[in-house]
Amino acid sequence: MATTTTARIFNFSAGPAVLPLEVLEQAQRDLVSYPGIGMSILEISHRSKTFDEIIQGCEADMRTLANIPPNYKVLFLQGGASLQFSMVPMNLLPAGGSADYIITGAWSQKAAKEARRVGAVKVAASTEGEKFTRVPRQNELTLDPNAAFVHMTSNNTIFGTEWHDLPDVGGVPLVSDMSSDIFSGPVDVSKFGLIYAGAQKNLAPAGVTIVIIRDDLLQRSAPSLHTMLNYAVHAENQSLYNTPPVFTIYVMRLVMAWLLKHGGLRAIDAVNTRKAEKLYAEIDRSGFYRGHAQKDSRSRMNVTFRLPSEDLEKTFAKEATGAGLDGLKGHRSVGGMRASIYNAFPEAGVDALVEFMREFERKNG
Ligand SMILES: *Cc1c(COP(=O)(O)O)cnc(C)c1O
Repeated sequence: MATTTTARIFNFSAGPAVLPLEVLEQAQRDLVSYPGIGMSILEISHRSKTFDEIIQGCEADMRTLANIPPNYKVLFLQGGASLQFSMVPMNLLPAGGSADYIITGAWSQKAAKEARRVGAVKVAASTEGEKFTRVPRQNELTLDPNAAFVHMTSNNTIFGTEWHDLPDVGGVPLVSDMSSDIFSGPVDVSKFGLIYAGAQKNLAPAGVTIVIIRDDLLQRSAPSLHTMLNYAVHAENQSLYNTPPVFTIYVMRLVMAWLLKHGGLRAIDAVNTRKAEKLYAEIDRSGFYRGHAQKDSRSRMNVTFRLPSEDLEKTFAKEATGAGLDGLKGHRSVGGMRASIYNAFPEAGVDALVEFMREFERKNG
């Protein structure tokens, strides 16, 4: 029987995405009988002492990692980042108010679409005219000082762009969809009113969504809201109003411990920068590959690039898969290739892709 380790290939999937091998191995060891309880983590009550330690340990590690200030709550919710597209405006946008949305790709468009069902949305900026090849500059933002909040997408998973400096939104609460770059480096949580992220790119398997919300904003959640859609209810119940995804939270806890063990967000930041730079250097080396993102907006998590023709792109994807480099086909709206290289993606996989790209260019260039 092949061992887990030798059977693994390099997985460039945009999400659900690669998890640290150490974490998978630990989960495998614990699966049938979690130490000390004689039951699987899949079988235990979310009200048990064991799970209590897991969810609290997970939150504590997150707070340590990201230096989350005490006046912020961490919520473990379901429904994916996509449900947050609705929950954010349902909770934070008062009747008669309006919210500013910065449109930098498909996910921010979807977020704005749901917000429009709730109330007034003003587009503070959009880079759609440039095919979302960059995020807007500060002087391109039309911000309303009376907005209920400003919504941004910190990393545009599909287009491969990322904000490198936060927009200055004055005193208006900044809300960020960080699904695809959360904890990829240090983050100043105090700059945000609310951060949300689906887990399945950089945190854990699919099934849980993290919401980090400043205490005072919880007062905006109207009691008339549906219970499960109300942030204040989840905060009051420590995310245990109903059954949370126990297994996903357990794996997330292992991922947080893995991050801490390997030096925290500063250390992973350095690795992520190095990995991305290696790929962009290869893209820039000759004219064969063309990056989709403009240089000052390049994502460190999702590296998008084109080849000289769609035929070559097809061949590239096919041969790469054959060489053990999987998941490189880009999103249909951008075309070309996308290498997703989240925290858990090994640097050796980036080196292997660079090597493959050189060889492919030599044969086809
Ligand atoms: C993947 C992704 C989403 C959607 O997440 P779901 O958990 O599938 O709803 C939203 N925003 C961004 C930036 C993403 O990368």
